[in-house]
Amino acid sequence: MMIRNSLILIILLLQLSVVSCQAQSTSQSKTMNEEKKQPEGKNGNPVYSKTDTSKVKLSEEEWKKILSPEVYYIARQKGTERPWTSKFEHFSEVGTYYCAACGNPLFLSDTKFDSGCGWPSFYQPVSKGSIIYTPDHSHGMERTEVQCGRCKAHLGHVFEDGPPPTGLRYCINGVILDFEKAQQAEKKHKENKQ
Ligand SMILES: [Zn+2]
Repeated sequence: MMIRNSLILIILLLQLSVVSCQAQSTSQSKTMNEEKKQPEGKNGNPVYSKTDTSKVKLSEEEWKKILSPEVYYIARQKGTERPWTSKFEHFSEVGTYYCAACGNPLFLSDTKFDSGCGWPSFYQPVSKGSIIYTPDHSHGMERTEVQCGRCKAHLGHVFEDGPPPTGLRYCINGVILDFEKAQQAEKKHKENKQ
């Protein structure tokens, strides 16, 4: 019985290593360091790209295969993470926040502010096209849903009680955000130039 169990374990481990090899070959441009830090939404996700701006349209089954359950729940099922659970809520590193489902740049750290609402908050997206706005009448409320401009992942909502200069508060689920430090982006930029 013991031998049988360990055999099953070995087979499982072998399968896992095959999967991780495949994941690495699809993301050659990413550094190992980055892979370790932000595993969600990258490994085995062929549509994830920080440079490709073409729209992503996949079936729900396909999304389910390439996203982690947490990201899938927020992005595709319009879920909401529990308040005060995101590591990004009180997080002040300088850099860029990307869509965890597709890699689209969404927000810059200098537009982030401490709203106290329990979710990471920003007053302005990276660009007009980075976000899609949709009226949301669910739960007996009149709100404006914000979605990723590239893959239509649900991000959160925007409210009109934010700080200047926009007066807007983009209330975003931290699970759908993928952060990259400014220095790493600069370093990569320099490497690409050489
Ligand atoms: Zn996206």
